[in-house]
Amino acid sequence: MTLSPLPLPESDDPTTWHDWVRSRSTAELDRARALVDQLRTDPPAETLEVLRVWDRATGHLGGVAAAASLFGNVHPDPAVREVGDAAEQDADKLATEWSLDRTLYEVFAGLSTEGLDPAAARLLEKVRKDFRRSGVDKDDETRARITAIRDRLTELDQEFSKITRDDVRTIRVAAERLAGLPADWLAAHPAGDDGLVTVTTDYPDTIPVRMFAHDQDVRRDIVTVFRQRGWPTAEPLLEEMFALRQELASAVGYDDWPSYDADVKMIGSGPAIPEFIDKITAAAQQPMEADLAVLLERYRQDYPDATEIPLYDFFYYQQRVREEQYDVDAQAVRTYFAFPKVRQGLLDVTGRLFGLRYEPAACPEEPRDEASRRAVPVWHEEVAAYDVFRADGGESIGRIYLDLHPREGKYKHAAQFTLTDGVAGEQLPEGVLVCNFSRGLMEHDHVVTLFHEFGHLLHHVLGGHGDWYRFAGVATEWDFVEAPSQMLEEWAWDPAVLRSFATDEAGEPIPVEMVESMRRSDDYGKGLYARTQMFYAAMSYRFHADEAGRAAGEEVGSLLDRMVELQHKYDAFSHLEDTYLFASFGHLGGYSSAYYTYMWSLVIAKDMFSAFDGDGDGDLFSDERLAVATRYRDRVLAPGGTQDAADLVADFLGRPYSFDSYAAWLAR
Ligand SMILES: [Zn+2]
Repeated sequence: MTLSPLPLPESDDPTTWHDWVRSRSTAELDRARALVDQLRTDPPAETLEVLRVWDRATGHLGGVAAAASLFGNVHPDPAVREVGDAAEQDADKLATEWSLDRTLYEVFAGLSTEGLDPAAARLLEKVRKDFRRSGVDKDDETRARITAIRDRLTELDQEFSKITRDDVRTIRVAAERLAGLPADWLAAHPAGDDGLVTVTTDYPDTIPVRMFAHDQDVRRDIVTVFRQRGWPTAEPLLEEMFALRQELASAVGYDDWPSYDADVKMIGSGPAIPEFIDKITAAAQQPMEADLAVLLERYRQDYPDATEIPLYDFFYYQQRVREEQYDVDAQAVRTYFAFPKVRQGLLDVTGRLFGLRYEPAACPEEPRDEASRRAVPVWHEEVAAYDVFRADGGESIGRIYLDLHPREGKYKHAAQFTLTDGVAGEQLPEGVLVCNFSRGLMEHDHVVTLFHEFGHLLHHVLGGHGDWYRFAGVATEWDFVEAPSQMLEEWAWDPAVLRSFATDEAGEPIPVEMVESMRRSDDYGKGLYARTQMFYAAMSYRFHADEAGRAAGEEVGSLLDRMVELQHKYDAFSHLEDTYLFASFGHLGGYSSAYYTYMWSLVIAKDMFSAFDGDGDGDLFSDERLAVATRYRDRVLAPGGTQDAADLVADFLGRPYSFDSYAAWLAR
């Protein structure tokens, strides 16, 4: 059966879009409610049918939330963005309501997995687990307390992220003390009447200053105020947040919050988190020492008696080492990455790799004629759309939209958004890349980001052909979901791959030696980076895990004391006096105890990439490697969340996942 993509409004008129977002959301929420009402009052006799009704209900609900979130983040008209945000909140509210609905829970509690195929049996187990984790089976008093805790946690999370976003500190510096900063930065920061320049803790100020200012006191002052953000306001909020998470985890039967959180992730258990952290810490010991030796040698040219490098000097000297020891001319690199060539190159590379064909459905840069330029409607004239086909197949397997340039009111970061989740015979998967790249020459960093985000998009499209919304595309364990995208970054670092599309104005491909020095420069400092990441991961874990002890009457120490202890144990640099990094460490909100996730997916990505890396002859498009890519597509991406990520990876690699490839890369 041929499926059609979701038709978007034909008109550019914001009112049409506004009404479309609202009426579609209302209709889909009504459909979802009707399905759930049927389950509550008159559930089907067949288990499989009960599951199907529930999956379609949650699928419609998820669809509302996804499209609403997309247009809330990308539509050029503020009123459309607002109606998107409102629809997303309605969907969230309904999801919470269902998760605590006892009648609904009892429908599933009575079912048996007998006779179900593996994916359906898995779905039933997941649905039951979701309900149990929400506390729906507890007595009225406990459920009321859980609801109160949830509401308060939402507030705390919002307050904390507001602090991390809005608490901007400043230093004031005599203009002549800013020597070393790039000319365009200095021009954008003129001195006031008193001759002083204001430098804020926002990234566009702080990062260049700590990286380029020759004056050590300036570097120390900016790094110090940067790490004072959020303090002291955030401290009591965080303490309350950690305590409430502990209470919530304990109310639904877990020892502590990390165990509750990890139970639905690839890492599997709370105690596995510190084990992972210590394993990475050990693997990074030698690489960190090697990085530090290089850094210290350079540091001693300026401070001959130094035995260690203060944290506030790290960024500056890391930059010196990169500039002096790795010959990378960032300006020259950019000339090879003109946006239109990069976009086409990305499509050619991934098409070849995964056996796909992309047919332009709306392509702003190539206006052959008005009809093909806007064959399908888009929300902004710069958005491109493609229909995706298997190279050997005649039917579309999804549609992708690329919304890649900045504009006012648009989402500021880079991410893959869902327009529709795919289910075989019912709904075509459609995804959107939302990024903020230059329309002209791109930084190579941004090329890597584009490959990364496209990895999520492919996962979404290729994994959107199963039986269940619940397992569609990227609906795998949360700590696995970055692995396919991190792995695709490797192609953006490969000289032969880059030379297939990265050409300068005269058509000359980027020199191999240039790519190799870029890679070496990027690799420098990965041991230091790994240890800093483990310091952050340890903080995120310990602040939560310690609450179980505190609840049992143990003395656990202040957040500051524990942070200093963990920095000493894991980071390559000593604690900077009078700073309170935890108070602005925003990931304590969203990631809670799971900050390890970033490194975890990198370990898995390196392991999966080892299957491509085999004979090292350098051709990532050899027949052998294309066969590996096909296997990866079919065994890791296409199954979506129908199996545990560990099993998908083992099926692809022919062995369980391991840390070896990551450790070898780190030591290289
Ligand atoms: Zn990502």
